[in-house]
Amino acid sequence: MTMEHKVERKLFDEVMVPCYNPMPMIPDHGKGSRIWDQEGREYIDFAGGIAVSCLGHCHPVMVDALTEQAQKLWHLSNVMTNAPALRLAKRLTELSFADRVFYANSGAEANEAALKLARRWAKEEHGEHKSEIIAFTKGFHGRTFFTVTVGGQPAYSDGFGPKPGDVTHLPYNDIAALADHISERTCAVMMEPLQGEGGIVPPEPGFLQAVRELCDKHNALLIFDEVQTGNGRTGTFYAYQESGVEPDILATAKSLGGGIPIGAMLTTERLAAHMKPGVHGSTYGGNPLACAVAEAVVNEVTKPDVLDGVMEREQWFRDGLEAINDKYGIFSEVRGKGLLLGAALNQDWEGRARDILVAAGEEGLLVLVAGPNVVRFTPSLVITKADIEEGMARLERAIAKVVAG
Ligand SMILES: *Cc1c(COP(=O)(O)O)cnc(C)c1O
Repeated sequence: MTMEHKVERKLFDEVMVPCYNPMPMIPDHGKGSRIWDQEGREYIDFAGGIAVSCLGHCHPVMVDALTEQAQKLWHLSNVMTNAPALRLAKRLTELSFADRVFYANSGAEANEAALKLARRWAKEEHGEHKSEIIAFTKGFHGRTFFTVTVGGQPAYSDGFGPKPGDVTHLPYNDIAALADHISERTCAVMMEPLQGEGGIVPPEPGFLQAVRELCDKHNALLIFDEVQTGNGRTGTFYAYQESGVEPDILATAKSLGGGIPIGAMLTTERLAAHMKPGVHGSTYGGNPLACAVAEAVVNEVTKPDVLDGVMEREQWFRDGLEAINDKYGIFSEVRGKGLLLGAALNQDWEGRARDILVAAGEEGLLVLVAGPNVVRFTPSLVITKADIEEGMARLERAIAKVVAG
């Protein structure tokens, strides 16, 4: 890398709004599940850009789709439609319960559309009184003011003045609490079918079914936020497909674009009819550049050997983490599904997830945390066995360092 292109980490502190605290190293390029920083130092990527880079970095099908579309057409606005957007929408309806697609640019925006649609439906079909949104503690739905308010983490939603109203939070996996609270006033229940940011918390057997039944009983919509779980991450295209429980609205983003910003809200014909022209919109939503890349990503991810490979890779991760735990005894459990996995620290190591993340970085491995007690792994769905093994060797060295103090 030439001198004039290099930047220093301290420039971040001079010119950026300080809402992040990035690592000292500055990545320069990536290939598959490896990344190289400005100094040419190589890292193995178990983070996958937080469940986004589902085909790794610069996968040829993404690069080809991007470069081809880049020479044709990037942006139009919603005054016109375009072929990549319609082809991708058709594909998403074939792959899911949905009949209709609304495009956004991120997970938060897809969820925002889902919530606005639910409120609109309730008002038009049932009246003003049906406005309550029920969500779950430790849930995460994005950072717009509506979605962050629905998310169950006050640390993210407090401190910005009056919040959008009529949002209730209940404990995840507590069917009795939901049965007690839900009523004819409930407009929708919004949830992740496996909580991600909140600590990799899977639904207990029967929980999703019970939520669906309670929603049906009280004429409330069920919204699945599959922004993190979707697009093959748990071994099926959407996580709900394993459970047999269908939502009324689904939000998808992250791995949908494999790295290009795109989000989508999927829903049924009946509900979509409530979003008439002018009710909602987005300047970039459905732009041909993002849709062309997402179409290529979806076509690749849905190949049977990619989806089957997720379960195989889950096992390699679990085996590797178990072997480390046999030596160092720091995890209480490894939980999650497919390549959305969390290693929860036991009592002795409470609060130390970030120390492990930092030590891993020093060993040339990128991992994530989900709260203070969980080390999170959301790698590429096509990460090689060799990269997993080398990554585990680096993780073991990092943990040995943390254990040694
Ligand atoms: C990441 C995430 C979001 C927010 O997506 P953005 O693209 O950052 O807006 C919403 N919901 C879930 C479950 C997520 O994991």
